[in-house]
Amino acid sequence: MCKTPDFGAQQTEAVKAKIPAAPTMTAKDRCVAALGGAGLWTGLVALPLLLKDRYARVFPAAWYAYDPASTATPSPLGLSLGILAVVVGQLFVLAYQYARWRGSTRLGPLVLIQPNEDRRYDYAEGAATHLSQPEGFVLIGGYLSLTWLLRLMPHAYYGFEGGVDWARVLGCLLLQDCLQYGMHRLEHKAHPKIYQESHKPHHRFTNPRLFDAFNGSLPDTLIMIVGPLYATANLIHCNVWTYMAFGSVYANWLCLIHSETHHFWDPLFDLVKFGTAADHHVHHKLFTSNYGHLFMYWDMACRTYKSPRNVRQFVPNGKPPRKWAGSAKHE
Ligand SMILES: [Zn+2]
Ligand SMILES: [Zn+2]
Repeated sequence: MCKTPDFGAQQTEAVKAKIPAAPTMTAKDRCVAALGGAGLWTGLVALPLLLKDRYARVFPAAWYAYDPASTATPSPLGLSLGILAVVVGQLFVLAYQYARWRGSTRLGPLVLIQPNEDRRYDYAEGAATHLSQPEGFVLIGGYLSLTWLLRLMPHAYYGFEGGVDWARVLGCLLLQDCLQYGMHRLEHKAHPKIYQESHKPHHRFTNPRLFDAFNGSLPDTLIMIVGPLYATANLIHCNVWTYMAFGSVYANWLCLIHSETHHFWDPLFDLVKFGTAADHHVHHKLFTSNYGHLFMYWDMACRTYKSPRNVRQFVPNGKPPRKWAGSAKHE
């Protein structure tokens, strides 16, 4: 099994220069990294893009037919494809993370967000821990299945016509993140007992890695993710392809913002205040700012936004990185 790349050596170079590591990239390096990033994000929506115009040739009509007046259990085709879309997206994210964990810089420089702490891990352990989270997959899978099969979703969701409506995908992401911001802040501030029973387990990761994204608790997922998901579904009506694209981008973006290294696209995201990995590390480190996940607009409007540039723990301190003293269970 390969070891994590030697971020320590990279850090030493950065400390010598007294500035955070900023590797120089040639124009070709930038093109390759940009193409890789575009490929990853396209991969998150690969399944709906691939099937939206071909489904009628691939599946029997009875599998995607939907009668709003019927009370029969709906065909599970849309549900199955939706879950598969997230799985396909996860494969892209896992492959991306594997390349970076192996030390490849083809998808962008490997710069730690928290350069003063050394948190190395074994990829197989990280991926296994991530994929076995009951909160992330079982609970969300159960929510998706029950709401679909019991006809609890608005009728539009069962429709296969019309392709991906990108404006609605963006609308769902914005609304979901806005509601999630509110619930997240409530978990932190409503009562210490609520925080302890719901969100505190996720906060044992003061220096998170990508694989910690869904590592929390059942109440946390119910309050912060499932509740807002159901509200979003009822407020913005989508067809099956739009729902699929939204679900996969949402779930996989949540993983990407937990990355231990900056992504190549993060400067662009920072420009338009989409959530970056560094933005979310600020929340894990300080607990009192950046409650939003995918967008920083709610934090900026509510004055809870703190730029990662203003967090002293994220600036190299000139000392060798100390071992991260977080969750012993996963180290
Ligand atoms: Zn988190
Ligand atoms: Zn939190």
